[in-house]
Amino acid sequence: MQANREVVLRAENVKKYFPIRGTLGRVVNNVKAVDGVSLSLLRGETYGLVGETGCGKSTLGRTLIHLTPATAGSITVEGRDLTKLTPKEMRKMRRRVQMVFQDPYTSLDPRQRIGDILLEMLEIQKIGGAGGERRALVMEILDKVGLRPEHFYRFAHEFSGGQRQRVGLARALILNPDLIVCDEPVSALDVSVQSQIINLLLDLQEERGLTYLFISHDMSVIRYTSNRVGVMYLGHLVEEAATDDLFALPMHPYSQVLLSAVPSANPHTKKQRIVLEGDLPSPINPPGGCVFHTRCPYAMGVCEKECPQMQAVMPGHRVACHLHSQQSAKEEPNHGV
Ligand code: SF4
Repeated sequence: MQANREVVLRAENVKKYFPIRGTLGRVVNNVKAVDGVSLSLLRGETYGLVGETGCGKSTLGRTLIHLTPATAGSITVEGRDLTKLTPKEMRKMRRRVQMVFQDPYTSLDPRQRIGDILLEMLEIQKIGGAGGERRALVMEILDKVGLRPEHFYRFAHEFSGGQRQRVGLARALILNPDLIVCDEPVSALDVSVQSQIINLLLDLQEERGLTYLFISHDMSVIRYTSNRVGVMYLGHLVEEAATDDLFALPMHPYSQVLLSAVPSANPHTKKQRIVLEGDLPSPINPPGGCVFHTRCPYAMGVCEKECPQMQAVMPGHRVACHLHSQQSAKEEPNHGV
C-alpha cells in the first residue's frame, strides 16, 4: 500500500523531554519520553504504534499533533512544520489533526451538553453559518457515530463507556480532519463494545479517507486495525513494517518478545513465549548505546556503545538493531515510504 501514497504527516527526529526541576527551579534532569523518532503517515492508512506502558507512544501521539510541543525535531503537515506555527496558525491547523482519547470523559466539560460542545468547536473554527447550519452539522455527525438526536442535550456523565467513545469520535470528526490520533481508544471498553467502536472507526476511515495513528498495547487490536506498525521501546522507534510482514517476521529482538505473547491464529501451532529479564529502565537515565541492551538476549559489545539507527532491511521494513545493520541498505530518507 506504500508506493505513491501521499504523506499526510512527516516527523523527523522528534524528541519530547519533560524537565525535572531541583529546589531552585533549575532543570537538573529530563524524562526522555520520546527520543529521536522519525516516521511518516500516509493518506488513508492506519499506522499502529505499539509498545509496553511507559514506552512513550502516547506522548509521541500527542507531540505529533502538537497537543504538547516537541522539544526538538520537525513535524510537517501539508508542507508546514507544526513546531514553528504561531498559536493562531496552530488553531487553524487543528481542523486537520485531531485526537481520540482512551476516555473522552476526562477531556469533556462536564457542565456542557454534548451538542453545545460540538457547536462551540464549529464556532471557534468558523465552520457553518447562521440559520441552524451548525446545528445540522452536529446532528449529522451524531448520526454518523451512531448516536441519536436526543443525545445532543445530554451531559458527558449520562453516557455509557461505549457511547462516550462515540462522543469522542464525534468531537474528533466534527471539524472534518485528515488525521486522527487514536490513543488506546478501546482499551477501557468491554470486549463486545470494543469491536463496535473499532468497526465504526474503520467504516468512517473508508468513507472519509481518514488517516489514523492508532496507539495500543494490544497486538491483536493492532493486527486487526493497522496497515503498518511501529514498535516503540523506551522513547525510540525500534522497528517499522507492514503489519503482515511484522507479524510474519519480526526482526528486532523486542518485537519478537511482544509477538511471542500473541496467541497463534492456528491452534495447532505452539508458540514459545519469550520472557524478558529485568525491568524497563528509567527514561530519566536510559541505557547508553542501544536502549534495549540491558534486556536483550543477543546484546554484543557494540550494543553498549553505539545506538543503532533505523535502517531498511527490506522495502518498507526498518529496524534499529546492530544484528541487522551489516546486511541492510542505508536508511531511506523518506522513512521507508
Ligand atoms: Fe539487542 Fe544489540 Fe540489537 Fe539492541 S542492537 S536489540 S542490544 S542486538
